[in-house]
Amino acid sequence: MTQHTGERPVIIGAALSGLAVSYYLSKHGIPHVLIGRRPAPTRPRLGESLDLVGSLEMQLEFPQYSEYYHPKDTIGFYKGDHAGVFCTNLTGPIIHGLCRMIGIPFIPLIHLDRVGFDSRFYDDVTRAPHCTAIESTVVGIDYDDDHDRVMGVVLDDGERLEPTFLFDASGFESRQILDTALRITKTLVGRSQYVAFTHYLGRDGNGEAGGPPPGWKHATNLLRLVARYDEIDGVAWAIPLGSYISIGVSVDADANRHSDDELIRLTDAAYERRGVEYKSVFAEPSRIKGIPYEHTRTPRIHGANWVQIGYTSNQVWFTSSSSVGTSCLVANLAPMFLRSPRRAGRLYERYVQSVWRTHWRQDGIFNQPIPDTELGAYRKLRGDMIGFISSNEDRYMLYSIAKGRENSLQSALRFSSQVVKKLPGHVAVLGRRYVSIARPDDLGKQSQFIYAAKIPHCRLVGPCPMRDDPGERGPSVAKVKLVSDL
Ligand SMILES: Cc1cc2nc3c(=O)[nH]c(=O)nc-3n(C[C@H](O)[C@H](O)[C@H](O)COP(=O)(O)OP(=O)(O)OC[C@H]3O[C@@H](n4cnc5c(N)ncnc54)[C@H](O)[C@@H]3O)c2cc1C
Repeated sequence: MTQHTGERPVIIGAALSGLAVSYYLSKHGIPHVLIGRRPAPTRPRLGESLDLVGSLEMQLEFPQYSEYYHPKDTIGFYKGDHAGVFCTNLTGPIIHGLCRMIGIPFIPLIHLDRVGFDSRFYDDVTRAPHCTAIESTVVGIDYDDDHDRVMGVVLDDGERLEPTFLFDASGFESRQILDTALRITKTLVGRSQYVAFTHYLGRDGNGEAGGPPPGWKHATNLLRLVARYDEIDGVAWAIPLGSYISIGVSVDADANRHSDDELIRLTDAAYERRGVEYKSVFAEPSRIKGIPYEHTRTPRIHGANWVQIGYTSNQVWFTSSSSVGTSCLVANLAPMFLRSPRRAGRLYERYVQSVWRTHWRQDGIFNQPIPDTELGAYRKLRGDMIGFISSNEDRYMLYSIAKGRENSLQSALRFSSQVVKKLPGHVAVLGRRYVSIARPDDLGKQSQFIYAAKIPHCRLVGPCPMRDDPGERGPSVAKVKLVSDL
């Protein structure tokens, strides 16, 4: 053990999750060691669409990075003949009130430009006097089975640290070094996936085109590709991030016969088929990356002196946008993990259960058939969306509790009582007023339809228009069956 590190908490991984833990330890005056290379501003990246907790945390705790935040006003989703839009401003009144209380400007849910964010976050976090940053890689972990304690962390230069507590934030591309040392076996949920993803850049370095922005530009656009129309089955994302757009597709790893380039080409075509024509704005290609990934459950995510964060703990459908939020929860709990690991661990477990509820709702949308009747289709999709909303709100409550507990009693009361208590009543009105589902006869009209009702522009707090007057629906949306009006 070297002198400059001593016996301290150790964090593995110096990207968003590890940096957030470091930030909170420093904020509480706790000396610690952060191990990992400075994040390079490379493309493409994952972890760009944030849920309620992630969005709120970024704006509350890190308003200085607002240039990397881009509005996520809606979630558009496309599956076969159906398309829908879900207005994320449903949480607007709560966030709006909270932001006003704390004195920060209101922004809706956000997309996060990880290319810029992570490097700048690293520079700021590692400047803190309580953080000892070591640009190295962990190659081994010593674990005491009897006491469930991590005893040592071995670096690639042979140095060995003895952590008082270990935060494992080594993320998606780690070699699951902690699982191996602790002999933790993850359970595969569903089928193994393969993901191809890339960024398209806007012409002249910006994503602006003439005229008002198309609806998809302020939305997380989720698309369930179906072989009948799209040649492949898969789940795709299109996430606009200001001067570029993030595109990716997840397919069954065993069934996939396509190259990464072909997967992206088929995804581009599938979006275009629904009228999401992002290539007219973002035309410059960049590197395409392909990686295998799995949805996995982990039997133990924390122990006597260790906790797993982000991808190292559980991995659910990326469409839940919940991983960054989960990391933020653990980061807020970091000081409590040092004092009372079991208490902090219980809160974390409850939070993760709620993340899985979101996973199953999303899995239902992607993989269960949509009933043939309009009423059946509407009920199913609306039910899934409401389930999605309420699990987000559960997480928000736990996050508020975590945040309050680690600050003064006064702030706990502010978060938990004034804000959280308003939530349950809110759920009742969300499904009706904020979800819109359509089944136009022409696939190409899907995007035009779901964004025609001024939803992309509802930046002010208020319900999305559902029962839109046909005269206000926008131009040339013919023969639309408006399922949501049932
Ligand atoms: C297809 C897909 C899409 C996703 N989309 C979203 C999304 O939209 N929203 C969301 O919230 N989440 C999403 N996720 C989850 C996403 O991976 C994480 O949210 C996000 O990247 C969290 O950042 P991180 O810091 O935990 O991990 P990473 O960004 O993976 O960083 C881990 C860091 O640890 C370092 N490291 C690894 N091993 C070691 C070692 N042995 N020693 C030292 N350092 C090490 C790495 O170099 C890296 O810098 C997605 C995941 C997948 C697979």
